[in-house]
Amino acid sequence: AKEAGRGRYEVFDEGMRARAVARLQVENELRRALDREELQLFFQPIHDLQAGRIASCEALVRWNHPERGLVGPDQFIPIAEESGLIVPLGAWVLQRACRQLARWRRSVEAADSLRITVNLSARQVTQPDIVDTVAEAIEEAGLDPQDIGLEITEHVLIEDAQTTADTLRRLQRLGVRLVIDDFGTGYSSLSYLKRYPIEVLKIDRSFIDGIADDESGDLAIVTAIVRMASALGVDVIPEGVETEAQLQALRDLGCQYAQGFLLDRPLPPEELEARLRG
Ligand code: C2E
Ligand code: CA
Ligand code: CA
Ligand code: CA
Repeated sequence: AKEAGRGRYEVFDEGMRARAVARLQVENELRRALDREELQLFFQPIHDLQAGRIASCEALVRWNHPERGLVGPDQFIPIAEESGLIVPLGAWVLQRACRQLARWRRSVEAADSLRITVNLSARQVTQPDIVDTVAEAIEEAGLDPQDIGLEITEHVLIEDAQTTADTLRRLQRLGVRLVIDDFGTGYSSLSYLKRYPIEVLKIDRSFIDGIADDESGDLAIVTAIVRMASALGVDVIPEGVETEAQLQALRDLGCQYAQGFLLDRPLPPEELEARLRG
């Protein structure tokens, strides 16, 4: 029994060790990737359905890995968060997104009123110098803080509430727009909508999924979110719109904005520029 027990422990240990080694490897590679400019930003348009144009776009990071090709953020953002690498990585994203918008403003007429949103992870929001990092990226690019939206999840609002509240107020004073990402998935109290200066709610795509079919209950939930947001003077952006039927249901609700594969996938900068030029 002792033998078997030890055997099992070894198998368990091996599995854990293998995972730890794999993680460490990704972490080391990611550190190098930052220096070697292997990261790149894609931009997914957010459409203004009423004006019939692109209102803003969300910066989404990709890793152009020398052997594995284009790697999606789900494969490395969690590791970046655990290791703390998300702090320099996130600063890089902010800087590059701001520079890209500034370039479009100079070269593409339709980018005059274009805005950009950037995802901030919980770890970034609790950095003491996050407000400076944001301010510097905007200033260096010569942009107006109003041009930039910061996407944070509800999860961020629950963690370390005092520091977060202070940071969000300072960001608001700076003039950037605060956006709640994946709205509805955080199991948090809605009272934060009164407490924090939130300007936009992005409705998580899990609620958009069944919005066009009667049985799912999604339509009732999204209707309630849209009404509440409207009463609070907060904009709403439904995410993950994949079908015409979903888009129609959102139009019927009076939604002004939408984002999703039906309208546009995340695009490399050249393709977004081509979309802007029409
Ligand atoms: P997110 O912020 O919720 O971003 C939306 C994700 O949904 C993107 O995946 C986008 O490609 C995908 N998506 C957009 N429209 C549709 C649709 O119609 N259907 C479906 N099925 N998916 C759609 P992506 O680019 O793989 O990013 C995944 C997550 O990685 C993001 O989720 C965000 O949490 C994180 N992420 C990406 N870039 C950054 C970054 O620069 N910093 C941080 N902290 N996180 C990032
Ligand atoms: Ca987002
Ligand atoms: Ca989202
Ligand atoms: Ca997400």
